[in-house]
Amino acid sequence: MRLSRYFLPVLKETPSEAQIASHRLMLRAGMIKQSSAGIYSWLPMGFKVLRKLENIVHEEQVRAGHIPMLMPTLQSADLWRESGRYDAYGPEMLRIRDRQDRDLLYGPTNEELITDIFRSHVGSYRDLPLTLYHVQWKFRDEIRPRFGVMRGREFLMKDGYNFDLTKEDALHAYNRHLVSYLRTYERMSLQAIPMRAESGPIGGDNTHEFLVLAETGESGVFYDSEITDLRFGDREIDYDSVEQCADILEEFTSRYARTDDMHDQAAFEAQVPEDRRREARGIEVGQIFYFGTKYSEPMGATVQGPDGKPVPVHMGSHGIGVSRLIGAIIEASHDDKGIIWPEGVTPFHAGIVNLKQGDSEADAACEALYAALTALGLEPLYDDRDERAGGKFATMDLIGLPWRITVGPRGLKNGVVELTSRRTGESEELPPEQAVERLAKIYL
Ligand code: ATP
Ligand code: MG
Repeated sequence: MRLSRYFLPVLKETPSEAQIASHRLMLRAGMIKQSSAGIYSWLPMGFKVLRKLENIVHEEQVRAGHIPMLMPTLQSADLWRESGRYDAYGPEMLRIRDRQDRDLLYGPTNEELITDIFRSHVGSYRDLPLTLYHVQWKFRDEIRPRFGVMRGREFLMKDGYNFDLTKEDALHAYNRHLVSYLRTYERMSLQAIPMRAESGPIGGDNTHEFLVLAETGESGVFYDSEITDLRFGDREIDYDSVEQCADILEEFTSRYARTDDMHDQAAFEAQVPEDRRREARGIEVGQIFYFGTKYSEPMGATVQGPDGKPVPVHMGSHGIGVSRLIGAIIEASHDDKGIIWPEGVTPFHAGIVNLKQGDSEADAACEALYAALTALGLEPLYDDRDERAGGKFATMDLIGLPWRITVGPRGLKNGVVELTSRRTGESEELPPEQAVERLAKIYL
């Protein structure tokens, strides 16, 4: 992409309404624009990152054997009356009436809708296990939308639902989700720690929240500091292996790590040596639940069991806050100049800065770099505007691409360009072909 043809409305001023770094930087980098409280338009660069995260989520879900689909944003109130949640959900639910006077709602989550699909089409235990998921916009009329996309009213969520014959099978689905989530967050360069939490209006008593530690997080957390040393890494995983998934759950959750609503000071002190006890704040980026037959029973989601008798299925639901993740990544990775994208989620792989637009040699070298990177399947962002170098550098630092190639007449005389890491600020002079090779090695 050439910056002169892109739509990247960066702001020079710091927007006064934004209280935390990620919100400020997303506005300043031209990623989002608020349309009303807690509701945002995703401008091209914000949309690009959102899509990247969504793709990672899809890849890891499909790898775990879960099946993608898409359910509507608007749901019938009658389904929610069946489960008893229409009244129970309260003012967070946006209720809508259509021209036929039918009650609808903008889905805050999808347990009822998916249970209805299941009961309409699945009749036998032989069709189990089954896990369906989608990535779809949700609406919750949050009392205090704030911090930009972190607590929006409209937000993008991946929500998945497992249907199993027995509790044991459903607990395997729970463990499988935990493992797939660990992988998902690590691919985004985030450390999200699974912690015991309250289940809230979804129900059930088996649940973990995934928290990214950050001072600006809205949840209080208590944990054993050893937990932060755990990494999923590139270990091979067989998602059908009950044992392997259970072992990983054990490894990542058998220490003390809880959100404040589940915190038990006596247990904390008994389980964790004093020098390892930590109290901090975290951003909730996902949650998994096992809730048994809470929805299948009232809604009649049964299958014929091996003995021919109908049994209600065991279910769980599992959510990732896809749009909130962008805020969490920026909270975890920025400095006072701007965003620092991890390589796995960056909107463009590298920036090309032409120090002397209009100089035939500099222009030609930039074009050649652009073509070479593009030919490799990488996406460079070429700042081809007729602007001063200082302004170009400030824009690149603000939007946070991990690598910048700076091209100017002086370097070209010696046959070199400059490759700069956004994270460390370190620069290296090298011939253009080597800069391309270096990026290929990093990304491909
Ligand atoms: P919170 O406690 O932050 O209100 P929740 O526990 O009500 O979230 P879940 O029902 O667990 O949310 O939804 C799954 C995920 O969706 C959450 O872990 C979070 O990452 C994301 N999410 C929930 N509410 C919002 C929101 N208002 N804005 C952005 N993302 C959200
Ligand atoms: Mg939650």
